[in-house]
Amino acid sequence: MQESYTLGDLQNWEANGARADPPVRLGVFGDPVAHSLSPQLQNAALKSRELNMRYARFQIAADELETALRLLPSLGFVGVNLTIPHKIAGAKVVDGLDDFARKVGAINTVRIDGDKLIGSNTDGPGFAHGIRSEFSVDLRDLRVLLLGAGGGAGRAIAMQCAVEGCERLVLVNRTSAKAQQLAAELKPFFVDTRVSAPVRRLEAVPWEERALRTQIANIDLVVNATSLGLKRSDPPVLPAAWLAPHLVIYDTIYAPGRTALLSAAADAGARGANGLSMLLHQGALSFEAWFEREAPLAAMRAALGV
Ligand code: NDP
Repeated sequence: MQESYTLGDLQNWEANGARADPPVRLGVFGDPVAHSLSPQLQNAALKSRELNMRYARFQIAADELETALRLLPSLGFVGVNLTIPHKIAGAKVVDGLDDFARKVGAINTVRIDGDKLIGSNTDGPGFAHGIRSEFSVDLRDLRVLLLGAGGGAGRAIAMQCAVEGCERLVLVNRTSAKAQQLAAELKPFFVDTRVSAPVRRLEAVPWEERALRTQIANIDLVVNATSLGLKRSDPPVLPAAWLAPHLVIYDTIYAPGRTALLSAAADAGARGANGLSMLLHQGALSFEAWFEREAPLAAMRAALGV
């Protein structure tokens, strides 16, 4: 069963959730959250490891996040994942952050430790695993253009590219000041000049046709970490005419499985993959943060059909 709860349900948990069998002890907070495949993924993992509990969706608005998180320790929760729009706000609410999450300033995983909330970020490492499994290449060998560098997932992906020492990183965001700010934060990771083309190793560029087309000529991997594409009616985040066959395109969106960007990639003769592989690996790492034991990857993969 893939049930969905609200803040009101958490506030009356005895009546609304606590009696579920097996009990709900994990979940994902988001707005929207209906598209999330995390319940499918994590419930398969819980079953495979014979853990008698369930993972559910929670429709939680931005202004409800802190209240909802603060209720969890007293309700016997093990932890939660955070998705749109809670990743950056969540990092400011929790009582402690692991090293990578502190660098990113955004979290997707909360572990309950006594009465404390501990935040971590598995999106970055999950993304790196996803790229390796889809395209058999490591981030350190890639020149990356990241769209959506101002969001929670975008910040995690940018930081992962930085710590793995990718060849180039180009940051793009609708609100360009956020991409500029992130580029300033990441500067210490890009001090040497490995790139020989007349381009910089790290830069933030405006979301404009001329700037993007110039960059794409000096890029291997394009990543969409915006929420543009979540709705079937959304236009491609980049049109096919701006893409080229030498590119690999990773859309972090996994529902729908074939976004307009992936169709544009195919039209341009480029290889593309959706975000299912990142979902799988970030979920496995979240499971390991909650239970301090290896995640059942095969069962989780089967649950997603990948
Ligand atoms: P946030 O709300 O934190 O960030 C949203 C980002 O999308 C911002 O950069 C925002 O730009 C940008 N954006 C929103 N609307 C538009 C638009 N119309 N045009 C251009 N840019 C836009 O969300 P998250 O970072 O949590 O999630 C972002 C995406 O990553 C989602 O699509 C989500 O599904 C995906 N994701 C996938 C995962 C996986 O495992 N596969 C894991 C995590 C996320 P601005 O700063 O200007 O508002």
